[in-house]
Amino acid sequence: MSSTPRSVTDWWRDAVVYQLYIRSFADADGDGTGDIGGVRARLDHLVELGVDALWVNPWYPSPQVDSGYDVADFRDIDPLYGTLDDADTLVRDAHAAGLKVLLDIVPNHTSSEHVWFRAALAGDAGARGRYHFRAGRGEDGELPPNDWTSNFGGPAWTRTTDADGTPGDWYLHLFAPEQPDLDWDNPEVRGEFEDILRFWFDRGVDGFRIDVAHGLAKEPGLPDVGPDWTGSTEELHPAFDQDGVHDIYRAWRKVADSYDPPRIFVAESWPPSSERLSLYLRPDELHQAFQFDLLRAPFDARVMKAVIATSLHDTEGVGASCTWTLSNHDVVRQVTRYARSQPPALVDGPWDRRRWHEEPADLELGLRRARAAALLMLALPGSVYLYQGEELGLPEVEDLDADRREDPIFARSGSLDVGRDGCRVPLPWDTSAPTYAFGPEGGAAPWLPQPADWAGLSVAAQAGDPASTFELYRSALRLRRERLVDAGPLAWLDTPPGTLAFGRGSLTCWLNTSDHSVALPGGRLLLGSVPGMDDRSLPVDAAAWVDTT
Ligand code: BGC
Repeated sequence: MSSTPRSVTDWWRDAVVYQLYIRSFADADGDGTGDIGGVRARLDHLVELGVDALWVNPWYPSPQVDSGYDVADFRDIDPLYGTLDDADTLVRDAHAAGLKVLLDIVPNHTSSEHVWFRAALAGDAGARGRYHFRAGRGEDGELPPNDWTSNFGGPAWTRTTDADGTPGDWYLHLFAPEQPDLDWDNPEVRGEFEDILRFWFDRGVDGFRIDVAHGLAKEPGLPDVGPDWTGSTEELHPAFDQDGVHDIYRAWRKVADSYDPPRIFVAESWPPSSERLSLYLRPDELHQAFQFDLLRAPFDARVMKAVIATSLHDTEGVGASCTWTLSNHDVVRQVTRYARSQPPALVDGPWDRRRWHEEPADLELGLRRARAAALLMLALPGSVYLYQGEELGLPEVEDLDADRREDPIFARSGSLDVGRDGCRVPLPWDTSAPTYAFGPEGGAAPWLPQPADWAGLSVAAQAGDPASTFELYRSALRLRRERLVDAGPLAWLDTPPGTLAFGRGSLTCWLNTSDHSVALPGGRLLLGSVPGMDDRSLPVDAAAWVDTT
């Protein structure tokens, strides 16, 4: 057992973590893609914002078919981003600045360029046993082994060709064909990943976000889902959230706990219910799991309150704390989600981009609501993950040309789904420079084009302006540290329809999603999501933090 004090070991319980999408954060070497040098040069931004930690999306060597989620070598850095030495230096710099560092581990699949998969294709039986190779169905094996579809569209199986040129077995890929799924029943796979964890923990990394954490264990026999499967996130699929996954995380927890201070994990897991999500958070499993229901919720106090109450109830039931987020690199940015009419209930996935596109977006309204939602989220008990650019109020870039879109979802859906590029556009740092100072002067154009009207959204344009979204986030993070971190649980207040309010210690948080302003019950306004608010009334589409001492 470690003798480290609880505040040091449990830092994650109320931490604010900044998701750093490295290819779009800052480009130091001028090749148009963000890199480790860029992160190091801009660490001050995170310190000024006031976050506790950063999570870096995959930075390992990769053919970049799925922006690095197709990992070819889990123990190195892609030259696009720098070197292993650069990574070590970044971890040291971040620690010196008081920031923890989380990486992204991708255990469900490797790249098809990973040495294991190459050996498997070359016929190595041991290597084939680390993946899901199966004979096809039909007379000549011409049909896939089951009816699963890839999350990116199309079948989840690809047929291989044998050495003599004849069609061979099929292999499973829940995502792109270049991302073959690993077989977690194979002890070599388990051993390898525990070793990878140690490789990075030994270098000082504080934890991992686990990609597709609910996908590792598959139902034995890989049965068909059948014709009744609707694809809803409320249904259990034989490839996801199988009970066998929990043993894997019990073993990982032991690895994390063997370090002092212990390292941590946050699961990207989409089980069919909040109750099943809490199973990942049992004391001998993972520390955190994203509560995606808040991100799936419309801007509607009734739905948001129900989601929060259920998440708190289920999470506390296993002695864990909640992990909130409103956006990430896979979903439409909240400014744009809230800029259209709101659905009556949770959306199945905010990747439901087709739906969002059908109506014109009122981005002013979307930003106003996004600022209110941020104050709601930042007042909740638990930890919060921010996605880079949300502190600037960036909208989704919806008008990217088809030939600039890189997300495999775009091509695999036959361009029916525009994919996730619109939330991955490089950050604007300064107003004047051609790339808004994303890259150095004279450097290459950013890997995705930035909109011509983003100057006013840049960090430089917003810093110091009390009405800006950046300063709203800064103030909220400062107040959160001062007033909320030790404030304990939340107590709901009775409020009119279309609104919600709760108290934590001497602070109450109010949210108004109705169509008229409501009276605030007295107290001093600490922070309002709309510039110039007073402490007597809460306008439409706004939130307030009120001091009730
Ligand atoms: C990641 C995605 C990625 C997928 C496959 C997701 O959960 O967040 O960006 O495409 O996993 O690795």
